[in-house]
Amino acid sequence: MSPSTPPPCQAPADAGRHARRIVRVALPVPLHRLFDYAVPECLPLPVIGARVTVPFAGRRLVGICMAINPPDAHHKVKHLDTILDEENIFGFEIFELGKWLAEYYLHPLGEVWATLLPAAARKPQPLRIPGIDRWEITGPATNLGRSPRQRALYETLEQAGGSATMEALKAAGFNRTHLRALAAKGLVGLQQQAVAPPRRLIEAMNLNTSEVPDLTPEQSRVLETLEAQRGFAPALLDGITGSGKTEVYLRHIETVRRSGRQVLVLVPEIALTPQTLSRFRARFGEAAVMHSNMTDRARLTEWLRTKQGQNGILIGTRSAVLTPFKDLGLIVVDEEHDASFKQADGLRYSARDVAVKRARDLDIPLILGSATPSFESLHNALRGRYRHLRLTRRAGGAELPVLRLVDIRGQTLTGGLCETLLAAIGKHLAAGGQALVFLNRRGFAPSLMCGFCGWQARCRGCEWPMTMHRQPPSLICHHCGRRQTLTERCPECAHDALIAVGTGTQRCEATLRERFPDTPVYRIDRDTTRSQKRLEAKLEAIGRGEPAILVGTQMLAKGHHFPDVSLVAVINADGGFISPDFRAPERTAQLITQVSGRAGRAERKGVVYIQTYQPDNPLLTTLTEIGYGEFARRELESRATAELPPFQPMALVRAESVNGDDARGWLSVIAAALGDTVEVFGPAPAIMPRVADRIRYQLMVTATSRGRLHQALKPLGMLKDAPRNLRWSLDIDPYDTY
Ligand code: ADP
Ligand code: ZN
Ligand code: ZN
Repeated sequence: MSPSTPPPCQAPADAGRHARRIVRVALPVPLHRLFDYAVPECLPLPVIGARVTVPFAGRRLVGICMAINPPDAHHKVKHLDTILDEENIFGFEIFELGKWLAEYYLHPLGEVWATLLPAAARKPQPLRIPGIDRWEITGPATNLGRSPRQRALYETLEQAGGSATMEALKAAGFNRTHLRALAAKGLVGLQQQAVAPPRRLIEAMNLNTSEVPDLTPEQSRVLETLEAQRGFAPALLDGITGSGKTEVYLRHIETVRRSGRQVLVLVPEIALTPQTLSRFRARFGEAAVMHSNMTDRARLTEWLRTKQGQNGILIGTRSAVLTPFKDLGLIVVDEEHDASFKQADGLRYSARDVAVKRARDLDIPLILGSATPSFESLHNALRGRYRHLRLTRRAGGAELPVLRLVDIRGQTLTGGLCETLLAAIGKHLAAGGQALVFLNRRGFAPSLMCGFCGWQARCRGCEWPMTMHRQPPSLICHHCGRRQTLTERCPECAHDALIAVGTGTQRCEATLRERFPDTPVYRIDRDTTRSQKRLEAKLEAIGRGEPAILVGTQMLAKGHHFPDVSLVAVINADGGFISPDFRAPERTAQLITQVSGRAGRAERKGVVYIQTYQPDNPLLTTLTEIGYGEFARRELESRATAELPPFQPMALVRAESVNGDDARGWLSVIAAALGDTVEVFGPAPAIMPRVADRIRYQLMVTATSRGRLHQALKPLGMLKDAPRNLRWSLDIDPYDTY
């Protein structure tokens, strides 16, 4: 090596002299600790919050710089490779939020950062909005060769003021080969900084006000209250289905947009329908979207645009709540009770709770809207922590449907439906109406039995009854997905005596087709809606308003509007009220209320029939005779008595192993370690004790305060000696307790 070559970047030979060049990095590994690296001399010190790449266990990982020269730094450490960002990639607010998430959900910090970053930003490369590479002149024209194309390209760049986007250069007839040739001579280069091209900001001036209805008196009062609020002001907008909650959001969003601030709207996974979007776009001209079905590129683009303040409105599902904003002025959580706001694995956060946290930190208003508020939010409203705003009437004059219980004790059911109900459906169709039949079971029949020997089809992995499907013919385990071919004869005794037991949507559909051969029957469940196109075609056919029957699962209960449905049938209401899961009654009441709300949204008055074997069950009669609000108040009382959430915080430790003893044993170790400042229930078999060859146990932990709960759980993250053949996890504020 000649003496003139600059010295290669090398490890600090003398730790003492380089003591001030150590950084502490959070890495995306499931360990509750950070890692120290030395910064080579050729690199500047990264700033806190910047992405860096480092060697780790033979791999190269992207981590986040958490501290510079920590006082207790390790000195015999490896070198950091590169620094990817010149600034904190998250910005201050999300950086603080990330640290809070790690503490609150007791989740490794490095994994929290990986969850917060869009996938494309987890790669070891600087951030640039994809597709808008900008090239700039980096050297003098005197070094240009003789190639006329290269000269023309150089001049084009000069004329454009020294830089131009790839798009513009392509339009002018140049390609990457020309650019690379100039780049090789050091004359042009890619601009490093991520600069989004200006996108038209959603100006209040672009508002389309032609189709804005006049608010009802109720809506006006609610809007006035919202607009009078300043700073952190959480409001529960508790309004029956069709009462015009969305219209209130739109009005309030308009005000916030006029002030120039950004708005985040969270919607359930299933509600991000083209209808929802087009409603926002019709009003505001533009609204950016974020959901799990986007390409990494598109997601990164929206993430950056939002961070840079170019998206005025961002509508998204759960993870959108983790997006950095430049100037967030309002958060709306629509259908705030929806289960999809809770992440079920990894960082098990509740997007609703994170929304509350962000609104508090940013000192901005927050609207939680629902026709069936979660007990958590209702509890907060009842004790005055949230403003309780009510909409009790349907906008546009439609009336709420009447709820009727149908006693099916001793009745014969056909395809799950009793004669009374089939007759009522027939009457409605004859009168030109549409009927919606709701049951929460996909497939043909929930189980298959032998009428001769009593054999039952059970999943080999879960021991759970397998669901019989007719389209295509198969047995499917709805818990682990295992499939089996459907045999004609009993595999045990070989008799031709197999009986489909119970009713799923396919069977119900078949019955209805047989009974009403002249009426189209549309089935809507997870099996028929894999293709968005087919779903939309169905929705369109239903939208034409001719007599039709809709059969489906809870997918029918959310998001869609069926203005011509005048009869709703709930096939089985009982299951949810006798389940061991403490949230099951809440969930069932929400489902029944939401599905009922699909009826009679336009001129026709609706009726809802609920089949039950327990017509005197007080839970059910409270719901049908008084309504969800009273149901919730009574259920909240029993939660208080039972010291369950929202009155006491809860955590669930789950463990599963092939040999159930390992899982149970590990949970016993944890139970002992938790001490007696918390209440520990278990280890007990999970409500679904076996899934896919693994046996599951769980430990339920409650405490009289959140502080106590966290104090007790905190050391769990440090536990290292879990048996290797075991999977275990910690869920703070669990939603499903099975
Ligand atoms: P929600 O979000 O509570 O279900 P929406 O805002 O979707 O209610 O309103 C239900 C229906 O009533 C929609 O078709 C909407 O366009 C209409 N609507 C809302 N507010 C008004 C109003 N003030 N006057 C007339 N129609 C309205
Ligand atoms: Zn048999
Ligand atoms: Zn299974």
